[in-house]
Amino acid sequence: DTMIEIKNLNYQYEDGTVALQNVNLTINKGEKIAIMGPNGSGKSTLFLCLNGVYKPTNGSIQVNGEPVTYNRNGLKKLRQIIGIVFQNPDNQLFSADVFQEISFGPMNLGLEKEVVRERVESVLESLHIQHLKKRPTHFLSGGQKKQVAIADILAMKPEVILFDEPTAALDSYHSQLVNDLVDELCEAGITVIQATHDSDYAMAWADRIIVIQDGKVLVKDTPQKVFENV
Ligand code: ADP
Ligand code: ADP
Repeated sequence: DTMIEIKNLNYQYEDGTVALQNVNLTINKGEKIAIMGPNGSGKSTLFLCLNGVYKPTNGSIQVNGEPVTYNRNGLKKLRQIIGIVFQNPDNQLFSADVFQEISFGPMNLGLEKEVVRERVESVLESLHIQHLKKRPTHFLSGGQKKQVAIADILAMKPEVILFDEPTAALDSYHSQLVNDLVDELCEAGITVIQATHDSDYAMAWADRIIVIQDGKVLVKDTPQKVFENV
């Protein structure tokens, strides 16, 4: 089943920088996709297009067979389906404490207070961070902030999660925790797309590897095929 269909996607920033050119990609439900490419190749721009932060300059994005609509309701719906974990959790965390932080998304969906509380508790439990519940977000360590940023997204129960270099700033212990968590999400049927610079990891983890360079898709293939061609 097709989860996301990107057709002839182009994105140009206001200053004229062309960040994506004629990107065509079909991503299936439950697929594990690694996106690779040098800095500045367009990975983050692609994620922000997928999440509706940027509207394509040209081309289209379909999610669950429906074109994304760029109005309030359309974007709200899109962000319930596709969540993004930013590279730097400081850009994502803005509530006073962890409980409020994780509650924010589900509250915004208009869920009952008790339902929100249950969701937050269950996400804290699945990430093994119940003890952080009452902590001020400001005083968390880098690894803990990352875990809370992931918890934020999980509380929305998305079908797709985009991870922008999720382990980039983490020590090996927290990197392993995040990698294990990603595996659990995949096992639960969530479609995961991660930007990574780690080719060994991508080869071992991904169903397909997509290589982007200068805003264009150079390669989209299974790790085996990608490996044969290097
Ligand atoms: P990556 O995530 O692969 O490092 P980006 O998507 O951040 O790549 O960047 C793609 C291109 O778009 C680069 O040339 C970058 O300099 C440019 N770019 C990124 N953000 C902006 C912006 N806000 N305004 C103008 N150009 C940008
Ligand atoms: P830091 O202070 O650098 O974040 P700690 O080692 O003090 O590092 O905390 C590690 C984090 O990882 C804590 O939030 C803890 O709850 C969490 N953690 C510990 N064990 C597990 C585990 N088995 N699975 C998931 N998370 C864990």
